[in-house]
Amino acid sequence: MSDLSQHQFITRLKISNVIKHRSFLEILYETSRRLIIGNEKNLMIGFCPLASGSKGNCIYLGTDHTKILIDAGLSAKAIISKLSEINVNIAEIDAILITHEHTDHIQGLRTLAYKYGIPVLANQETAKAIVEIFRDCPKFKIFSTGETFEFGNLEIHPFSIQHDTLDPVAFTIRHESLKLGFCTDLGFVTSLVQNHLMNCDYLYVEANHQPSMVHASPRPMVYKQRVLGRSGHLSNEACGNLLSHVYSPRLKHVHLAHLSSECNSPETALSVIGEILKSKGINLDMCVAPQNKISKAIYF
Ligand SMILES: [Zn+2]
Ligand SMILES: [Zn+2]
Repeated sequence: MSDLSQHQFITRLKISNVIKHRSFLEILYETSRRLIIGNEKNLMIGFCPLASGSKGNCIYLGTDHTKILIDAGLSAKAIISKLSEINVNIAEIDAILITHEHTDHIQGLRTLAYKYGIPVLANQETAKAIVEIFRDCPKFKIFSTGETFEFGNLEIHPFSIQHDTLDPVAFTIRHESLKLGFCTDLGFVTSLVQNHLMNCDYLYVEANHQPSMVHASPRPMVYKQRVLGRSGHLSNEACGNLLSHVYSPRLKHVHLAHLSSECNSPETALSVIGEILKSKGINLDMCVAPQNKISKAIYF
């Protein structure tokens, strides 16, 4: 495979306004700015998980100026159809942000990138893997894992997670004073993950399986070892512990995501995670992002 950096379509995202540490003064400034604005019109943003699970993942996120997809793991036709359910036209999508190169996250990417010319935002390793899979090169914009970048009026921070791909990432996305966290496809919660998901207003977090259901399933041992391993997927219990660690009164809603159809159920996930949170005195508004239909959309 040719060196990705030599490809004429590759551009490196301008990393502007890199924010590594938000100082007290910055937060004070932000707070006072919100008070001066006096209304929440400028905070118009919405997101809607279009599908979640091992058969395909895609999330829509949009503001008045910038509309993106996070992953494109359904067929292009299905993504376009689901977007129309929330009155979004594919022509309005400014970019597709990619977490990692597993098929359930990129299935429709090739068509969307070529037919509709939508730029693909990915890190270098994931972009290389996608080129290898597609045998072709979409219009990439390359970001660096761990470095905040601006895209339209979104401030996006990709951070490393433990999963069995080349450089998998999760994201926090800020718009004005809002912070959203998107974190699925990880086998283990590192302190880096915990730190990044602190102080979010909304979270989309993996609750993949109930370990007893994995052990009881007829799946081959190699599958069970992968799912349960540190580079696989997050259990209900690990999700509950993560949520109780990152919880703050600022957190308004959580979508539980990427549930296994065979080794979990919405009832099990909500009950196991709800119990963990209850034991810590936390009462959270949660719902499950389903595989076969669009989720509850959040507008704020
Ligand atoms: Zn996945
Ligand atoms: Zn994956």
